[in-house]
Amino acid sequence: MHPRDQTIFALSSGRPPSAIAIVRVSGPMAESVVSALAGKTPVPRMATHTLLRDSSGQPIDDAVVLWFPGPASATGEDVAEFHVHGGRAVLAAMFNALAAFDNVRTAEPGEFTRRAFENGKLDLTEAEGLDDLIHADTDRQRRQALRQLKGMLGDRVRDWREQIIAASALIEAGIDFSDEGDVPAELIAPALVKIQALLGEIKGTLAAQGRSERLRDGLVVAIAGPPNVGKSTLMNQLVRREVAIVSPHAGTTRDVIEVQLDLDGYPVTVIDTAGIRETDDPVEQEGVRRARARAAEADLVLWLAEGAGNIDLNQGTTPVWLVRNKIDLDSARPVASGEGTAHPEFRISAARGDGIPELITALVGFAHDYFGTSEGALISRARQRRLLEETADSLRRSIDVVGQGEELAAEELRSAATSLGRLLGRIDVEDILDVIFREFCVGK
Ligand code: GDP
Repeated sequence: MHPRDQTIFALSSGRPPSAIAIVRVSGPMAESVVSALAGKTPVPRMATHTLLRDSSGQPIDDAVVLWFPGPASATGEDVAEFHVHGGRAVLAAMFNALAAFDNVRTAEPGEFTRRAFENGKLDLTEAEGLDDLIHADTDRQRRQALRQLKGMLGDRVRDWREQIIAASALIEAGIDFSDEGDVPAELIAPALVKIQALLGEIKGTLAAQGRSERLRDGLVVAIAGPPNVGKSTLMNQLVRREVAIVSPHAGTTRDVIEVQLDLDGYPVTVIDTAGIRETDDPVEQEGVRRARARAAEADLVLWLAEGAGNIDLNQGTTPVWLVRNKIDLDSARPVASGEGTAHPEFRISAARGDGIPELITALVGFAHDYFGTSEGALISRARQRRLLEETADSLRRSIDVVGQGEELAAEELRSAATSLGRLLGRIDVEDILDVIFREFCVGK
């Protein structure tokens, strides 16, 4: 039997032990399984309280069972859900009982969602939204994923695709009718108007999104600067708990320490790099090398300086903010003028907390600008952006080449429709599907 026709099961709730665990079963054997374990087939979509027994009649657990005959189920197949007590031994007994059935096996990661996708329950953008929702850590990530899951992008893409197919039908009809000579202009002109409008819409979507697809991964902010300027202390201020070792000795933060922050709903990873400085100590050199590499990948660098110190980092195009720390000591020493730097400048005391709220507000502002107007964002993955760009390119080319021959334009339109079909996961996607669904949780 093909693996796809087998019945699958998995723990769909969190790690045991837990109060309740949900074990899902999907596939043609689901009804045999549920009726054997529960003693009878439960009423569809009604919670049924029952004692589950294994094949030798031994009780497994007291459970609530739900029975969803396909196709009105999450996967489109017959689905049974067992709400059992979330103990490890309970689950072990459940899994043994399930695996004892022929053609019933444990599910691969994402296999339930993949079956739902294959049965037309959701398109690929919605499946991606579902995965993002499960992994959302912050409120903005949650909202973006939910929009995606609700098909905001998918619906738009389906609509675009239909319009492209309609435009290409107009052109192809023209080709068919003109045995000789030119395709009548009255067929081409409306098609071109349609394509122009569509291209405008897709370009607008691409441009308006800022970098919303980065909302999944979050923004990376590196704290860099010479040893002992207070990088770890600032990091601690930012997370308001001890995450980095704060020490009065230079060069203690040899490695790179990361924390995840939720800044007004934006996911932000802050990296505390090792003190960047010239050193002969090989261990420290390695720390400095890693620190420079991480700082180079960051979306923003906070360069910490003390007194009159200045930025000593070649960052290319990455923005660098100059953060002057230890302002509490400044009355005892010359204050930096800050003149001649093209970088936004902040004055803080990481130890006392002065200037930290202003710095955090500025970081939130940076994140907001960086991600763009994410409230309306439709694109949440690089894959989606790439395919939309391909679509726009094909549409643009179809307009460019129509003068050279309608067949060429029709060809470009077909390729635009194909890109959108790929975006929805409806066209030659087997390999992409493997990659995408492998990232999912087991039981999802
Ligand atoms: P790092 O090497 O850059 O990570 O620096 P640390 O965070 O370990 O700080 C080095 C030393 O500077 C520690 O003794 C801190 O207590 C001290 N320090 C950090 N921030 C301030 C500050 O705002 N004011 C004063 N006076 N001392 C600070």
